[in-house]
Amino acid sequence: MQLIWLRSDLRIDDNTALSAACERGPTLALWLASPGQWHAHDDAACKVDFWLRNLHDLRQSLGKLNIPLLIRRIDTWDEAASALLEVCRQHQIEAVHWNDEYGINENDRDQATRKRLAASGIQVHNYLDQLLFRPGTVLTRSGDYFQVFSQFKKVCLEHLHRSLPALAPRVKCQAPLGIPSDPVPAQVEGFDKPTASLVAHWPAGEGEAQARLTRFVDETIEDYQHLRDLPAQPGTSQLSAYLAAGVISPRQCLHAALASNRGEFDSGSSGIQTWINELLWREFYKHILTGYPQVSRHRAFRSHTEALPWRDAPEDLLAWKQGRTGFPIIDAAMRQLLQTGWMHNRLRMIVAMFLSKNLLIDWREGERHFMHHLIDGDLAANNGGWQWSASTGTDAVPYFRLFNPISQSQRFDPEGAFIRHWLPELKDLDEKNIHQPVKSADLFANTCYHRPIVDLGSSRQRALDAFKNLPRR
Ligand code: FAD
Repeated sequence: MQLIWLRSDLRIDDNTALSAACERGPTLALWLASPGQWHAHDDAACKVDFWLRNLHDLRQSLGKLNIPLLIRRIDTWDEAASALLEVCRQHQIEAVHWNDEYGINENDRDQATRKRLAASGIQVHNYLDQLLFRPGTVLTRSGDYFQVFSQFKKVCLEHLHRSLPALAPRVKCQAPLGIPSDPVPAQVEGFDKPTASLVAHWPAGEGEAQARLTRFVDETIEDYQHLRDLPAQPGTSQLSAYLAAGVISPRQCLHAALASNRGEFDSGSSGIQTWINELLWREFYKHILTGYPQVSRHRAFRSHTEALPWRDAPEDLLAWKQGRTGFPIIDAAMRQLLQTGWMHNRLRMIVAMFLSKNLLIDWREGERHFMHHLIDGDLAANNGGWQWSASTGTDAVPYFRLFNPISQSQRFDPEGAFIRHWLPELKDLDEKNIHQPVKSADLFANTCYHRPIVDLGSSRQRALDAFKNLPRR
């Protein structure tokens, strides 16, 4: 008997480990709930709920193939090896199959499990699945991990020209095993159920993920390079939650994009090329996580930036978290995050830069808040995005290129449509005033909207000085 240990690969189609297990013989599936570990990783309640809803869907699809789904509960990953061994003994498992995950804790967990299973004569087979390229296979001439995205991308495209990662073989229905599937819990203690409106934004299941991909490729991808920066438009795929939970694979995304671009990666439609570029940013940050594991330990990629004089300003931090900064684009974005579990990429950059530069609050505070609320929360992409915005990361924005939230708002939400949607209290303001309803921290300003919590000019200078005064590397 074979066992597939499902983790962040909650799908049947193009699932490398599942296909490989089923090709070898009768297969059982296992999923571990590990709430203590999720808490330690700051995983959002809406993300846990999304996993459970997708598992529920997956259980039914596996059932049609006669693959029973077992569910075991542990607290942290320290208990994973024992839980797997117990299942293996109970069902006379010959080999365990899993798709690789990246990160220090994931790696430690897998190594400990492999060792424990091997000691009991159980084989382990691990596969590349979450990424197009195995970390360690896209390296500089001197054998190091790339630190610059454009160079990393160039080598990725060379690899893709040589051979396109193939989709995994389709899984066939197996003979019934007579083992019942476990029920999928509707909720796990310590992780509240999200609101119905949040859930409605993110229907579960591979069918939904594929429908989103098809719709995006048919209707939007051609203009992606223009639309992707406009938060009021549905100009991006909104697939990140599905990619993070593995409800869809990056190979499926790549194949769909190429199919509508006559198989071309770096020519043809610029919308499609730009989207493939984003899939490669996803790839890049996961490779960084493996090659430079300090980023997995909440450390800055550029270690000299650890000396930045971050402000301890709990009230400013709370105003940012709650969308009360007095800058409409920031407040609208933060409310989008709280209410939908997602935020548009342009806005993630604007709010991250505002927190880490204008408020000079440690980027790790923002990184944690995002993880607590994002349905697509992913250590590599989130850490990469935060360190990019805070200019502490690899290939990050130069510290002196600060976004001004008001001009960003005027440029990317010119009519204020996004702001009006999330801040109905401003809906009657015209296109000019909506970006900056209160011009200064004037105590006597007559408005129902918040006064700006910071002056953009002096806070910009404070951030520039802080970076300039850093001790030389
Ligand atoms: P699309 O524009 O359709 O892009 C397609 C896919 O490419 C995305 O689903 C995502 O998987 C990947 N992608 C796109 N942009 C990036 C990027 N800059 N870095 C890495 N992958 C990318 N993305 C996450 O998936 N999880 C996170 O926790 C996360 N945190 C972020 C934090 C900050 C501060 C910033 C600036 C960015 C973060 N991103 C994160 C990247 C990006 O904002 C989201 O992937 C994107 O907004 C998801 O929307 P979409 O699926 O419509 O993307």
